[in-house]
Amino acid sequence: MPDNSRKKPSLSDSLQYIKGVGPKRALLLEKLDLNTVEDCLYFLPFRYEDRTEVRKISALVPGERVTFTGEIVHAGTARLGHRKKIFEVVIKDETGMIRAKWFQFREPYMMEKFPIGARFVFSGKPEFNRYQGTGLEVTHPDTERITGDELDMQELGRIIPVYHTTEGLHLNSLRTILKNVIDGYADLENEILPEEVVRRHQFPSRPEAIRMVHTPSSDLPVKDLDRFRTAAQKRIIFEELFLIQLGLAFKRKHTHHLVQGKVFKTRGPLIAKFMKLLEFELTGAQKRILAEIMDDLEQGQPMNRLIQGDVGSGKTVVALISLLTAIENQSQAALMVPTEILAEQHFLNIEPYCRKLGISIELVTSALSPKDKKSIQQKIMEGKVEIVVGTHALIQKTVQFHNLGLAVIDEQHRFGVLQREAIGKKGTHPHILIMTATPIPRSLALTLYGEMDVSLLDEFPPGRQPIVTKLFYENKREQAYAVLRKEANKGRQAYVVCPLIEESETLDLKTAMEVQDYLQNQLFPDLTIRLIHGKMKKEERQQIMSEFKEGNIHILVATTVIEVGIDVKNATLMIIEHAERFGLSQLHQLRGRVGRGEHASQCLLIGYPPFSEDGKARLEAIVKSNDGFMIAEEDLKIRGPGDFMGTRQSGMPILRVANLVRDIKILEAARKEAFSLIDHDPRLEDPKHQTLKQTMHHYLGNKLDLLNII
Ligand code: ADP
Ligand code: MG
Repeated sequence: MPDNSRKKPSLSDSLQYIKGVGPKRALLLEKLDLNTVEDCLYFLPFRYEDRTEVRKISALVPGERVTFTGEIVHAGTARLGHRKKIFEVVIKDETGMIRAKWFQFREPYMMEKFPIGARFVFSGKPEFNRYQGTGLEVTHPDTERITGDELDMQELGRIIPVYHTTEGLHLNSLRTILKNVIDGYADLENEILPEEVVRRHQFPSRPEAIRMVHTPSSDLPVKDLDRFRTAAQKRIIFEELFLIQLGLAFKRKHTHHLVQGKVFKTRGPLIAKFMKLLEFELTGAQKRILAEIMDDLEQGQPMNRLIQGDVGSGKTVVALISLLTAIENQSQAALMVPTEILAEQHFLNIEPYCRKLGISIELVTSALSPKDKKSIQQKIMEGKVEIVVGTHALIQKTVQFHNLGLAVIDEQHRFGVLQREAIGKKGTHPHILIMTATPIPRSLALTLYGEMDVSLLDEFPPGRQPIVTKLFYENKREQAYAVLRKEANKGRQAYVVCPLIEESETLDLKTAMEVQDYLQNQLFPDLTIRLIHGKMKKEERQQIMSEFKEGNIHILVATTVIEVGIDVKNATLMIIEHAERFGLSQLHQLRGRVGRGEHASQCLLIGYPPFSEDGKARLEAIVKSNDGFMIAEEDLKIRGPGDFMGTRQSGMPILRVANLVRDIKILEAARKEAFSLIDHDPRLEDPKHQTLKQTMHHYLGNKLDLLNII
């Protein structure tokens, strides 16, 4: 209950004023990210327990999950066979007895928890003990101590919420605190959703929804509650996603529709000349996407487009034609990439075309000498450079463009949102094209890039063969090397990727140097094997890359610097050391370095068991599928959305209640409503939308500063 001596209760009240919370508990609640009253209202139970029916012990049936109460008559450790110990508790009510047992336990804790004579509520699934013939028993039940008569009255005969809690804060206490908050404050929540939205989706009111999720009525199916599918839960999830989508819709309107952009003429003579130089025919998907881009460029609003195309689908040529279109319209163009090695590769690929077309191009990375840097910066500022290829170095203050008309950001998933935005500020509303090879599951794309237009490059250039992926345990590595020998004999080249460059004592990793040494001296003395890594001098690295491209190096041992972008068609074998340590999309990217030409290619993973559960799931997924989208979905499932792209860096909003894997349908509905609302009221000026507007500012301001929305 709110403390009446204070001023009017408000949702931003600190929890210290809640009955049952002192300074010590407040600290514990903080650990759960519960700082204000409002935080508590939206701290949803992660599951529910059905106590609508409490059985007598004599009426328990094997295999059926139930709740019963009783008194502890025995508690202690017992032996199971020679070595294994279990903890046993015997519970009794007026009709009979049943045994509960635990395989994982700390004895002193358990002894203290289950004193003889104490009364408890148990929930679990009783089974017959086939081996000991001792009747019904229940393994690892949920337990809750009954103190006084309170629980009998409050919690039996109902569905009760189960919350995540933290050490030192008992679930019962947390439940009581939350109940006090909800009783005192739920009614302060005003309606924020437009009336029509509430009606269309048949949502309960906000205070009602909050009450219903924390104290569900006993006639709701627990299954629906556990799957977050009741009307109240849906409403609360919807609200959160709606606010984010509203922000995205708002941003799109205000950086795109309501802004003047350069009008480009497309498909001019320069492009025609380039198409003649190009040694291949564009794929249907490339043509389709270029048409979409050209259409954007003619509109007079800044382009804001994301291209998703799996590794090897041919994004570079799409980027290049876009850059050339800007040049043809007397603007400068920039191509920004995440690593120096990729910037260098792009530069080397693009430069010959530029030479033939009479276009000036420069490379800007932090590897430039101060003198070169200065002179290039000067030329960029004076407009004497037409295409600039570079890394983050491009968005430093010292780089100023004369007239930036279009920027392409390649391998965007390796950048943060801020960097993506920074390049846009280098000119007056330049056209922005973003490319990513990490296929993003749809739900994430709608959240992370929700304000952009999205194109899918969903076709590979002709003649590609699927890459065969196999896992070898460390002790079978010789088999992988035998494949390497075969490929080398055929004149093909290989990459061997290692997770670390220097010997590390804490992580027992095969280092790239050791691997190079071993391959060169023990196995392949006749082959040219070179090492490449991020700490190398630029000249040396470029030298190695161009020799590898020319086929003078047979095996390139590398750290993950080659993860993105590198394109050598004759390389047909990728061996990944310690594959279990890599992330799933990273494995997919690395694998994408091979299979880029007409030759059949393989990716061999060397794993060091035992694998963690996640590690095992990742390896299985990568062996099973070549499809980047499937892999991304798997990755999202294994890691969870929060961690998917490194939350803070990626600008992924921190979701309080929604789950992008579980709630995709609600997300789509919320997006539709939000975008349609902004179409009708672009500035949210309607008096009816004022509470919503304030809430959006409040919510996005706190949670989404990185999304940089308003
Ligand atoms: P990514 O999408 O991974 O950036 P790239 O643009 O590097 O892919 O293209 C991969 C390879 O396919 C390159 O060698 C490129 O020259 C080639 N390529 C791209 N488009 C076509 C095409 N339409 N026909 C044949 N080869 C193509
Ligand atoms: Mg690429």
